[in-house]
Amino acid sequence: MLRRSESSVATAAEVDQRLAALGGQFRDRFSQADSEQELRLARADVLGKKGALTGILKLMGAVPADQRRQLGERVNGIKAEVEAAFNDRLAEIRRAEREADLNAAPFDLTLPGRVPALRGHLHPIRQMRDHILEIFQSLGFEIAWGPEVELEVNNFTKLAFPPDHPATDMQDTFWVKVEGAPSDVRALLRTHTSNVQVREMSTHPPPMAIVSGGAVYRRDDDITHSPMFHQVEGFLVDVGISFAHLKGVLTEFAQRLYGRGSRVRFRPSYFPFVEPGAEMDIGCVFCDGDEARRPSCRVCKGTGWVEVLGCGMVHPLVFAHCGIDAEKYTGFAFGVGVERLAMLRYQVPDIRIFFENDPRFLAQF
Ligand SMILES: [Zn+2]
Repeated sequence: MLRRSESSVATAAEVDQRLAALGGQFRDRFSQADSEQELRLARADVLGKKGALTGILKLMGAVPADQRRQLGERVNGIKAEVEAAFNDRLAEIRRAEREADLNAAPFDLTLPGRVPALRGHLHPIRQMRDHILEIFQSLGFEIAWGPEVELEVNNFTKLAFPPDHPATDMQDTFWVKVEGAPSDVRALLRTHTSNVQVREMSTHPPPMAIVSGGAVYRRDDDITHSPMFHQVEGFLVDVGISFAHLKGVLTEFAQRLYGRGSRVRFRPSYFPFVEPGAEMDIGCVFCDGDEARRPSCRVCKGTGWVEVLGCGMVHPLVFAHCGIDAEKYTGFAFGVGVERLAMLRYQVPDIRIFFENDPRFLAQF
């Protein structure tokens, strides 16, 4: 007992001594600090986690109870002094900085600004994608997004692709290895944006009108095909939706994109996830109405028509796979190639130019 009390007394003396020393130290440090950063560092040396005053506070537990109160008051007093000295010095530093600012050489507000030599902008494909999305948004469609690495079930199976469909073949699709997945769970780089249709239909009840856009991937590479390209996909599901709604919406879209006079036509076509399916052509924007130019037109190859999108009524099997009552609801869906529309609109002959990132090309948009 005796020994412990002696050590406590020694500790009380130590606290007292260290407090006395601290009293002068921090004022010197603060007045030497020339910037806010230096001042804050000096403050941390006193009040911070490893600061001098914090160290003293840790000793207080060992001080005898009858002296602890009085010492505690001194500690608190010093703490308040430190804070006050810090705030005073901070105000001084800020005042000095402001003064220096005001006394510095004045800005000449009449000088012309610096214009960057090369100013960036959105990629032409991105501009075209956004433009298409905006048109459908203005028609009441909502925007949704989906992943580019997708499960086979969302990219093919639920869209009623038969297992032996050529698109599901190794030749056409970039398959992705999923470590540790069961052998029947396969993933791939999505081959179309229709995965968004599956995801939205599987998670939301109709009615719905949704449009989505983004990159898709196929093993194609020539002047009109790129292994990575972009699509915009849309679909509308409700009670009583017919092919007439499809034609009305897509005709309005084509006219907003290419002008009020644009003609469209629908040709029967096959896609596994629609029935009936169609392709929409627009009157060739380069030779339409010009009988003399048409025969030599390279864009439409003399037909006067250019294919721009695939569409159709959503197949009842797709509804069934996504948990939607096909007896009650009908809907239409469409997919459009963004590069295709951009190539037509800007008369770009080779799709690969879009992805070569040559500033001489990109600066034209
Ligand atoms: Zn033409």
